Amino acid sequence: ATPTAVMVATGVGANNGVLIKGGDALERAQKIRYVIFDKTGTLTQSKAAVTTVKIFTAMSRGEFLTLVASAEANSEHPLSKAILEYARHFHFFEDPSVTKDPQNVINHATMTGWLVDTVGFCAIPGRGVQCYINEKQILVGNRSLLVEKGVNIPSGVEDVMVDLEENAKTVVLVAYDSELIGVVGVADPLKREAAVVVEGLFKMGVRSIMVTGDNWRTAKAVAKEGGIQDVRAEVTPAGKADVIRLFQKDGSTVAMVGDGINDSPALAVADVGMAIGAGTDIAIEAADYVLMKSNLEDVITAIDLSRKTFARIR
Ligand code: ADP
Ligand code: MG
Repeated sequence: ATPTAVMVATGVGANNGVLIKGGDALERAQKIRYVIFDKTGTLTQSKAAVTTVKIFTAMSRGEFLTLVASAEANSEHPLSKAILEYARHFHFFEDPSVTKDPQNVINHATMTGWLVDTVGFCAIPGRGVQCYINEKQILVGNRSLLVEKGVNIPSGVEDVMVDLEENAKTVVLVAYDSELIGVVGVADPLKREAAVVVEGLFKMGVRSIMVTGDNWRTAKAVAKEGGIQDVRAEVTPAGKADVIRLFQKDGSTVAMVGDGINDSPALAVADVGMAIGAGTDIAIEAADYVLMKSNLEDVITAIDLSRKTFARIR
């Protein structure tokens, strides 16, 4: 392809919301054989929603949700946003102990005054968040995070988790002062176009794989809906990069599509890194492509564009 053709293709991409960082990235996309998709925020809608709240302590629903939302308020993760939105709605519209000031109700989408102060916030990518409230540690995250911090998960809670996970829900555990105080079930439905894109890629000779930090049961349930057969679950951010290397072993060109901080090592290692436009800045920086519309169809657009631009000179 001539420099002009590359420039034209880059322009066509930009007009369609596909930002390509350079001619090399444009050229590599034609050879993609595997697309490794992150699950949360990539294959799934970034608008996850809370479906279940179970509290195992003598706290009101309002108190519990305020605690969890305050811990999650510092995080950009799609799960955090879902929990915050749910807690905010409960606080303003459903909590019987809250006076219904009409001004609050009108502005509730932006109001954060009901949250409590946190100290020492720290996000553990792919696992959850940690901070202190009232000088007690609060952990909000998955099994591996709580187990590592020495929090006991009673078998009754394990049963609740398995049930939610088999129904494709992501389970968020909440520990306060080293005690498991509740779980939040979050439904994170697939993007509407996900299954069609997986099928479209297959017809183009490109295989789709799902990689996620989420647990195996949830991952498999979600992958099944998207028609993805190959799943890697309970993978750490560094592990995601290892999955890319695994598929690169035979010289194949591998693309990674991701949205999170936890995807940036994999985006950097991939031959073609594609970041979801609605994702975090760190993912966008690590990627060669930015899919501005956050629509998975643009993975196909990107490969098509590359194939068409370079077809003639092969
Ligand atoms: P994915 O790889 O599917 O994008 P992540 O790696 O971002 O998922 O997260 C993996 C798991 O870590 C989540 O399913 C959740 O259990 C836990 N987790 C990550 N971030 C948070 C958070 N901010 N709050 C609660 N749980 C979290
Ligand atoms: Mg993600």
